[in-house]
Amino acid sequence: MIRFENVTKRYRGTSRPALTDVDFEVQRGEFVFLVGASGSGKSSCLRLILREDIPSEGRVVVLGRDLRTLSNRKVPYFRRHIGAVFQDFRLLPTKTVFQNVAFTLQVTGSSRAFVKQAVPEALALVGLAGKEKRFPHELSGGEQQRVALARALVNRPQVLLADEPTGNLDPATSVDIMQLLSRINSGGTTVVMATHEAGFVDQMRRRVIELQNGELIRDERHGGYGDTSSLPSLAPEPERGAAAVAALTAVLEVHRELVGTGSVELPVAPPAPAAQPRAEEPAPEVDDAKAEVEASADTPPRPPAPAAAEAAEAGETASRTNPIPVVDAVQLDVDELGLADRLGLDGDEDEVGPTS
Ligand code: ADP
Ligand code: MG
Repeated sequence: MIRFENVTKRYRGTSRPALTDVDFEVQRGEFVFLVGASGSGKSSCLRLILREDIPSEGRVVVLGRDLRTLSNRKVPYFRRHIGAVFQDFRLLPTKTVFQNVAFTLQVTGSSRAFVKQAVPEALALVGLAGKEKRFPHELSGGEQQRVALARALVNRPQVLLADEPTGNLDPATSVDIMQLLSRINSGGTTVVMATHEAGFVDQMRRRVIELQNGELIRDERHGGYGDTSSLPSLAPEPERGAAAVAALTAVLEVHRELVGTGSVELPVAPPAPAAQPRAEEPAPEVDDAKAEVEASADTPPRPPAPAAAEAAEAGETASRTNPIPVVDAVQLDVDELGLADRLGLDGDEDEVGPTS
């Protein structure tokens, strides 16, 4: 699904490569931690996967496409299959929650009807139903990252990249986000998360790829962070950190039990009150979503009018069939929206092009 073949990346004006001869492959459905100290090359790897940059040497193959030979004009279609979130959220400050999530769809030419349906679904998936009209500054950090996740997921990408997604969050909120990422992954989305924080990685027991000065020094399934004794302690506020780790451990226990009984879905409780300090607001009126769409249509980014053949090649329809289990608390609402059908939870496994 993602393959690095002897990838070296040199940035202009630097003497030492940011990545040297990096070689690994991520299979469909994996959850992979990309770890290493600041400057070790994690973000460089993610940028190569997103085709924001190209290797100096070697090859990066994502979803069966050799990104070296992918023409610039095809990049936007390719990126629809890859969701990405970052440490600094990158929300548009003057747009509401709804508009932030809708924006991606609008610029890629989705129909209004699709936007109207997909945005509330994505927000429900991340536990933000009812906050459509908020602006980013009216949200906690954890909520802002959820908006960013909803935006990353609204196109039903096959791969989710997360670059230090918990880097700006307190430990308890970080656990919420990790739960979400875990749940997204258990729905079949391949997740690659870059982090320099040891705690989560030890707890999650997922595959770990470790970089050091741009070289891959470890690639372990079910690995921890390795020898953490030499790492500086990054945990702020020990008591909260301990609570966070305990909470995460509990979640993972549940996860393991469910996997053991054959269920692949990780039911996640609604966000803990501690992580959601804001008072709940009354549910929005039925027409809110419509109003938002209308409002956002005042300054619509003109869709780039994709050629039909291109869209078909990029597998627009198939890309939206990647199932993501929904939050229990919103199950009813989402069912009413026909989400299961639209997300292909009926077992439709249509694939987009060749994958590896
Ligand atoms: P990480 O995400 O692990 O902190 P990065 O991939 O951001 O690491 O950086 C790896 C190395 O590449 C660092 O030495 C960094 O300074 C360098 N680097 C990253 N981006 C650029 C750039 N655009 N131009 C020059 N050097 C860069
Ligand atoms: Mg980085």
